[in-house]
Amino acid sequence: MKNHSNIPFFIPHSGCKNNCVFCSQVKITGKERKEPELSEELSMLKSTIEEAIKTIPLNTEKQLAFFGGSFTGIDKDRMIALLETGYEYVKTGKISGIRISTRPDYIDDGILEVLKHYGVTDIELGIQSMNDRVLKACARGHSAADSYRSGRLVVKHGFNLTGQIMIGLPLSEPDDEIETTDAVIDMKASGARIYPLVVFADTPLYDMTLSGKYKPLTDMEAVERSAICYERFIKAGVKVLKIGLHSSESLAAAEYGANHPSIGELVKARIYFNRISEQLKNIDCRDKKVDIYVKEGEQSKLTGHGKKLLNELTERFGIKQINVKTTDTEEFSPIIKCEE
Ligand code: SF4
Repeated sequence: MKNHSNIPFFIPHSGCKNNCVFCSQVKITGKERKEPELSEELSMLKSTIEEAIKTIPLNTEKQLAFFGGSFTGIDKDRMIALLETGYEYVKTGKISGIRISTRPDYIDDGILEVLKHYGVTDIELGIQSMNDRVLKACARGHSAADSYRSGRLVVKHGFNLTGQIMIGLPLSEPDDEIETTDAVIDMKASGARIYPLVVFADTPLYDMTLSGKYKPLTDMEAVERSAICYERFIKAGVKVLKIGLHSSESLAAAEYGANHPSIGELVKARIYFNRISEQLKNIDCRDKKVDIYVKEGEQSKLTGHGKKLLNELTERFGIKQINVKTTDTEEFSPIIKCEE
């Protein structure tokens, strides 16, 4: 299978008329909110693509990805101009397709026809939660029914659907997040992104935090709740493309919420921990040496962060010593051998 690489092009807050309580697209993308002149934006787009084509290896499938903001809410002429520019590279085979990200209530049959015409293959929907109470508390401006309708429409029109969900939204309980995960699976999404909530300054959520109306997640709570959703996605065959925001100065500066720079790695490590614990419950390895075999390249999930996870396993199951080794196995499929 060919490697895949996105060519990201950020359109911060462009096209979005909403103001979700947690939103700070400028802080997330590090870009100014003001829209540049169209000609200037198109030339930036072209140079971004050209530059990426030069640097990404030839045998890697390249996809243009419009991120940030709500792509299908942009003024139609502007949206089409951006798509046309990208589509020129699709037609010549220099890139394989286009990915866009938008809100569930900015999708209908007509919009999907336009997207298909210009080589869009993947649509990411900011679903965030499938609980109307939570959506209302976040001032999302759309309902869970909107998400169901548009998710199904996207798949019906033959696009690959990626559902973006958030962990720790105001009023959201772990069960709401499980329900949201299952809804994304039910929509037949092929991909998902999991974003534990980070509280950025200058957002309504920041004020809600200071006034005690919102209690931010600790990193550990975020890891545990995200791991449960991730596990469900794995079992359903939905590929998790990302956990957490890209690292940036603004992310590091956020005072509240789950802004650990390696939150994704911590979540994956938690899944290993859970799966290894399940196996160890059924084998008596007390006072014995244990070899844990994982896929090549995955060792650091167990040995990282000062071997915290290995120490926890050793203590919990009374193991004498754990060695981490590699073998030909799948990701998240550790094989455990306990000495005779
Ligand atoms: S829909 Fe997206 S871009 Fe718009 S305010 Fe909400 S989070 Fe921000």
